[in-house]
Amino acid sequence: MEPLSNDLLWAAAPRRVKVRAPGKINAYFEVGPLRGDGYHSVASTYLAVSLYEEVAVTARPGTPPTDITVSISPDSTLAPEQLAGIPLDAGNLAVRAALLVADISENPTGIHIEITKHVPIAGGMGGGSADAAATLVACDSLWHAGLSREELAQLGSELGADVPFALLGGAAVGLGVGDQLTAALAPTPLHWVLVPAGFGLSTPVVYGALDALRAAEGAQPAEPAEVAAGVLTALRAGDAHALAPCLHNDLQAAAESLEPSLTLVLAQGAELGALASLVSGSGPTVAFLAADAEHAKELAAALAERGHEAWPVEGPVHGAHLVP
Ligand code: ATP
Repeated sequence: MEPLSNDLLWAAAPRRVKVRAPGKINAYFEVGPLRGDGYHSVASTYLAVSLYEEVAVTARPGTPPTDITVSISPDSTLAPEQLAGIPLDAGNLAVRAALLVADISENPTGIHIEITKHVPIAGGMGGGSADAAATLVACDSLWHAGLSREELAQLGSELGADVPFALLGGAAVGLGVGDQLTAALAPTPLHWVLVPAGFGLSTPVVYGALDALRAAEGAQPAEPAEVAAGVLTALRAGDAHALAPCLHNDLQAAAESLEPSLTLVLAQGAELGALASLVSGSGPTVAFLAADAEHAKELAAALAERGHEAWPVEGPVHGAHLVP
C-alpha cells in the first residue's frame, strides 16, 4: 500500500486549536439614561482577571461550515445546574462567533467547539463574551483567515458589547455601549476575591431595574462621558488603597434590589477586611479588592468560613490567546 503523502495526512488529520480568554470585572461602571434605541451609554473601566474560559475548536474536514456542534467539557468547574442552562445551538455566542469568521474565510469547514466553563454564567463577568472572543481567535487560526486584532474586535462588537474587551484584555476604558475601547495603563496586577452567586441575573432585567429605580427617585442621569480620573491614576500606580474609594457601579443598587442577599455578601466582605467591594457589571458576582496576594488568600479563606465560594484572582491579565 502506498504511504499517504504529507498533504493527504494534513488534510485527513483533524486540526484542533485551543484558546483561553479571561472573564472581566468592572472597577468603574457609570450608566446613562435609557436611549431611544433601547441601549444605555456607559463609561466603564474593564479589568481582565485570572479566571479563564477555555475553548477548543476541532475542524471536521469535508463538512460544511454551518455544521457546528458544541459540548461543555467535564473539566468545567461550575455547578451542573448552571452548565445545563447553556445553549448548545446557534444561541451560543461561540457558534455565532464561528459563523462570522466562516463568512469571511476562504476554506472554512464544519467544527466541533468544546467549552470549558469557569466564569459564572449570567454572573456579570462576561463569560459568554469570553467564549465568543476565544472562538474568534481559534477559528481565525484554524482557517488561516489572517484577521488582524482590529478586524476580530469589529466582528466581536457585532456579538456583544463585552466581546472586544475579552479579545483585548488588560485594563481598558469602554465608552459607547462599552465596546469603544481605549487601553489603560495598569502594569501591576491587583488582587481580588470573587464571590460567585448560586444564581444568575439577566443583564437586560438589571438595566430595567435601574431605570425603574431612577424613575421612582425622579433621578435624571447625565450621559457618561468618561470614567473617574482617580480609577485610572490608581491603576497606573498599581495602588489598591488608592483604587478602593474609586470603585463604583451604577448597576449595583439595581442588582441588590433584585437580589437582596447581595447586600449581605457585600457587607460581610467589608467586615472581613476587604479594601472595597462591588458587584461586577450587572452581577450577581461580587468582587472584593485586597491589598496583596496574601491578603486575598486570607480574605477568601474568611469568606469560605462564612459559607461562601470565594476565589482569589488577579488582574489585569492578557486577553484571548492561543494555548500551545
Ligand atoms: P453579560 O454581562 O455580557 O450579559 P454575563 O457574564 O452576565 O454576560 P453570560 O454568562 O455571558 O452572562 O451569559 C448570559 C446568557 O447568555 C446565558 O444565560 C446564556 O443563556 C447565554 N449564552 C450564550 N452563549 C453562552 C456561553 N458560551 N456561555 C454562557 N452563556 C451563554
